[in-house]
Amino acid sequence: MAKELHIKLALPQLSSQDSEAVQEAVSQNWVTAGGPFVSDFEANLQMALDTNREVMALSSGTAALHLALRLAGVKSGDFVICQTMSFVATSNPIAYLNAIPVFIDSEPETFNMSVPALEEAIQFCIAKNKKPAAIIAVHSFGIPSKIREIAALAEEYNIPLIEDAAEALGSKVADRACGTFGDFGVLSFNGNKLITTGGGGALICKDAAQPVKARHLARQAKISSPGFEHDEIGYNYAMPGLNAALGASQLKTLSEKISAKRNLHNFYNKIIADVEGVAILSPTADSFSNYWLNVIRFYSEQQKYTASKLLKHLENLGIESRFPWKPLHLQGIYKEQYYFGSTIAETLWQNGLCLPSGCGLTNSEQNEIQNALNAYFSA
Ligand SMILES: *Cc1c(COP(=O)(O)O)cnc(C)c1O
Repeated sequence: MAKELHIKLALPQLSSQDSEAVQEAVSQNWVTAGGPFVSDFEANLQMALDTNREVMALSSGTAALHLALRLAGVKSGDFVICQTMSFVATSNPIAYLNAIPVFIDSEPETFNMSVPALEEAIQFCIAKNKKPAAIIAVHSFGIPSKIREIAALAEEYNIPLIEDAAEALGSKVADRACGTFGDFGVLSFNGNKLITTGGGGALICKDAAQPVKARHLARQAKISSPGFEHDEIGYNYAMPGLNAALGASQLKTLSEKISAKRNLHNFYNKIIADVEGVAILSPTADSFSNYWLNVIRFYSEQQKYTASKLLKHLENLGIESRFPWKPLHLQGIYKEQYYFGSTIAETLWQNGLCLPSGCGLTNSEQNEIQNALNAYFSA
């Protein structure tokens, strides 16, 4: 009989300091939006990213993406270019605005947005007399995309670039933090991300005028006259103080959490070192990954080992694993959409598997995982 699932994919790691931080927010009565816990968290995030761009704490990463698209001026019927290898939160805000997603395949090195396919898509939109209103590029699984090449194209065609770094807090390209390359950068602090605020996200803005507008929209676009008047349709997207207090405390241990993730990456690489046709997703030489989730990839033609067989094998031993994101262009929810590229993203979905990557995995849990993988690959 299968064992009970006891090793999860990525549980949040919370400490007694985290509890104290949340209790402090409660005892100071700063549980709702605004206040010192939010501004502290924002300042600390800015420092962690080593940027002078303004960072705004919001209620979720999805909210940050939605605001970024609004600020980029995306309107109903516009084309928005979007990486297909991502979680659905990346593309749903395109639909919130009744815009049309133009999905882009991955390239085989980082499994993020293909630059040639991106350029093809831009030219397709221009030929239809509708230049894309925005580009959303993602650093999936914390592996940095070729963001400098993507940013260069966005600049060449003068299209706002939104960098979805929800999974990439602490990842870098040539020593610069992911999330600080685009006109807008997005972070998420959902329970399974590098650090958590319970639920929450952040928006990073390049242009210094944007944060004023973003904060206005995030607080129901209330104008500062007496009485409740609003000059636009806004949202309730500000981060509550309670969540920010947890975030500031979590952020203090970011480098430990990244080290733990990087150790796990080395751990998995050692286990599969002698197995043919298998690799763990890794960044390019000039970039640094937080290894949010370690993804094992099966690329052998022989199919002796497969992602779905390994998933079953681990499940029987009570160890959780999960397929990578089903590419967004294959999701039935997007009725009107375009797609550029081939099947690189689809291949990762079919032949990849996310392995347990929680920062809090104990030595004995790691031993169990190691034994399980060794047993699979020696069979
Ligand atoms: C988690 C995630 C989001 C959304 O963040 P939430 O805070 O859960 O709304 C967006 N994009 C990607 C790539 C994510 O992994």
